[in-house]
Amino acid sequence: MQADSRKISRRRFLRESSVAVGGLSILTLAEPAGMRGAPAESSPVGAIVLLGPPGAGKSVQGRRLAERHAIPVISTGDLLRDHVRRGTKLGLEADSYMKTGKLVPDSLMTPILEERLSQPDCARGFILDGYPRTLAQAEGLDVLLKGKGLTPHIILLDVPDERVLKLLSGRRVCPRCQRVYNIYYQPSKREGLCDADGSALVQRPDDQEEVIRHRLETYHKETQAAIDYYSRQNRLIRINGDQTPDQVATEIESKLALPSHRP
Ligand code: AMP
Repeated sequence: MQADSRKISRRRFLRESSVAVGGLSILTLAEPAGMRGAPAESSPVGAIVLLGPPGAGKSVQGRRLAERHAIPVISTGDLLRDHVRRGTKLGLEADSYMKTGKLVPDSLMTPILEERLSQPDCARGFILDGYPRTLAQAEGLDVLLKGKGLTPHIILLDVPDERVLKLLSGRRVCPRCQRVYNIYYQPSKREGLCDADGSALVQRPDDQEEVIRHRLETYHKETQAAIDYYSRQNRLIRINGDQTPDQVATEIESKLALPSHRP
């Protein structure tokens, strides 16, 4: 009875927080330490790796997968932004790379990620958003997952560059509740103001057009090598990311073919 109510309240917490902050990846950072130790609810899911260019919808799909399979989303971008916000030594070093759209070196990235993946809530599996981004990270991840006994499921969200440019340059975020809008595809009701709390919406510094172009270049130069690595081994699940979020989610679930853990 006690275990049941704990299970329910944890699930309710996950759902409500994801709505409240508009991103489960943020939720994984905000989740109280006590809940991270919650017992595994059922069999392992494995590591669902979401690849795709910046702005392809990885965080939206990650959130849906998280709810369906009851595992956390780990966004390396959010982990890094959290360190920057808290002004940690790693965050201060990472900030200069992030501001210009460059990849943060593995000497900073790896310890931050490994620490997060060692938390008990990752034991059954997790969704990775934004990692790996290089061949070295892909190879390192294989070793790490083998050590944890988790099966990788590699998903690539394919989206053309022109679309990515509009998705990112049009993105606006509420600094208070983190709700995300797009001036072209999903505008707020009152221009420049959050629908939920009326705060003035902001543009992420790395969503400026010049920085976006740099991020796309980095994606094609660095991350393509990781994609080729999985593709050569026939491990890549290709998804057409240029559809509505519902259509993308349906295609992912049908190709992923994992049982749902939704209550
Ligand atoms: P994102 O929110 O995923 O677009 O990430 C924002 C920024 O964080 C990127 O432009 C990089 O500077 C940094 N970053 C995120 N993930 C990684 C990663 N796996 N390796 C290196 N840098 C990363």
